[in-house]
Order: sequence, then C-alpha cells, then structure tokens
Amino acid sequence: MNKFFFYFFYIHFILKIKGYDGYLNYQNESTWGNLICTNGKFQSPINIINSDLNLLIDNKNEIAKIESFEYSPIKNQKIQFIHGYKYMIDTSKNGFFNIRIIDKLYKFNLHDIHFHLNSEHKINSKSYDIEVHFVHTNSDSSENLNNKYLVIALLYKISYNENNIDSFIEKLPFNDINKEIDYLEFKSVFSKLNNQIIYFYKGGLTTPYCDESVNWLVIGEIQKISYSKFIEIKNLIGKEYPLGNNREIKPLNSRKIYIISSTYNPRISNIRVILIIIIFCLFLLFIMSKMCPESLNCFDSIL
Ligand SMILES: [Zn+2]
Repeated sequence: MNKFFFYFFYIHFILKIKGYDGYLNYQNESTWGNLICTNGKFQSPINIINSDLNLLIDNKNEIAKIESFEYSPIKNQKIQFIHGYKYMIDTSKNGFFNIRIIDKLYKFNLHDIHFHLNSEHKINSKSYDIEVHFVHTNSDSSENLNNKYLVIALLYKISYNENNIDSFIEKLPFNDINKEIDYLEFKSVFSKLNNQIIYFYKGGLTTPYCDESVNWLVIGEIQKISYSKFIEIKNLIGKEYPLGNNREIKPLNSRKIYIISSTYNPRISNIRVILIIIIFCLFLLFIMSKMCPESLNCFDSIL
C-alpha cells in the first residue's frame, strides 16, 4: 500500500473516531458516525408545544436569566461551507453572552452564526422556512459536561411585506459566498430578546458530534425573511441538501422546557426603580399620617 492510501485511510479512521466530517444524510442519521446522535436521550431539535405539561414558566428567573450581551459588527468575513454540512460565518471574535443558569453566572463567547434550510425546531408542531443558530461556547473550558454551549435559535418565515423583514439576514450575500461582508451590525438581532417569549431547554448539537451539552434559547417570535432572500438561501443550501439541512424532531423524554423572561431591557430596570421610589414615598406619607393625628395640619405646616 503506498503512502497516499495509508494517509487516506488514517485520516478517514481519525474522522470516524472523532465524529462525522462529510455529507450528512438527514434521511438516515445512523450514517452520522456517532452513537450519541442515534442513542442520546437529550437530543435536539424538539417540538415546543405551548400546552405541554413539560412547559413551565420561569417568571422568577430561577432556572435561567439573561444578564447581558455585547456583540461587535462582522467585518471582512465570508459565508463559509465547512465540514460538508455547515454554512456559517466565523464570529469567534465578535462578542459574548452572559447568562445565569440556576445560580451560576456563565459567560459564553460567540463562535459562529449558521443557517438551516427549513427550521429545525417546531413551535406547536409548525415548522418554518429558515432557522439561524448563534452558537456560543463556554468561556470556561473546564465546563465540559453540561454547559459547553449556548445556542440562540431564530426561526424565520417568508414575508411578502417589505416593511417586516429582518435587516440582518437580508444583508447577507447568500447568492455570492465569495463576497466579503465588509461591515455588518447584528446586535440589533438580539434586541429582539427584550420582552419576548424565550424558550430555554437543555439539549444537544443538531449535527455531529450531537453533544448533549447545549443550553438552547429558542426565540418565540417568528422573524420575517423576504422571498428573494429565502430563494438565495434555498439555492445555496439546496445544492447540497435539496430537502433541507434540518434534522428531524427528537423526543423530549424527561426534559422540561422553560419560558424565561428577559430582564436585560434597561427600561424594565428603570420602571422598577420608579416603582420603588413611589412605594417609598407612599410609605413615608403613611408614617407621617400615623405620627400626626391631625394630619391636615401637619401637611399644612410642611407646605
Ligand atoms: Zn445549527
């Protein structure tokens, strides 16, 4: 056997051990080369059903609370096609997301933004046209077991109303992936987190190695994409994956899904401060009225 064949089989063997690197057969996941993809009990995506008994409201932020995030614009990047299945933008230098999970604060660094033709998650058994994943990795590399990733999922449906469409996805050059994105602000995408229904659950990566170490935030409000931009994405991803690159729904098993409320919005904090001041003033007035039986005279003297 010559050197070429030796290295070919060696590399193939290494990839087999590490996971999958090549065309993903979405119709037959047993070919994905990783046992957890087929046998895991906490896989993604899932169908989020609002009437499900496993869906709970975390209105006190006991399970998860968004603390802050910061993202800088994308500069001089291209949409890349890597590993034979991933259409992504490298955003490994573009920002972070702080979230408290149970009682511990985690910092996740943005790693990449990638795209799925046909949504992966379903909401109330309904699928959508596109799903965008903002993949973050834990800044603490010792956190490998349960909290290795944070992925924020935005679901899009086609809109024929130009006023409604999301400006971030519209500016991406899916029709020419050799074209560099000179400068693209995308922090506004995350302002959508304010006052939104956000579903939080523990799951896995939807591509190999299917690690079950993902904190998923699925944004409840469906975003809008123009028909022409959708066709650009369909032409790009559909070349390799005519039926889409969306994984089939996985069972929830014993997991819970939580609706968390974002308290990131500074306006909410301001309202809280104003409420506290009003309550304090009312309390002060109450005390003064108790201290002075003829309250009118007291107030007269103050005035
Ligand atoms: Zn994805």
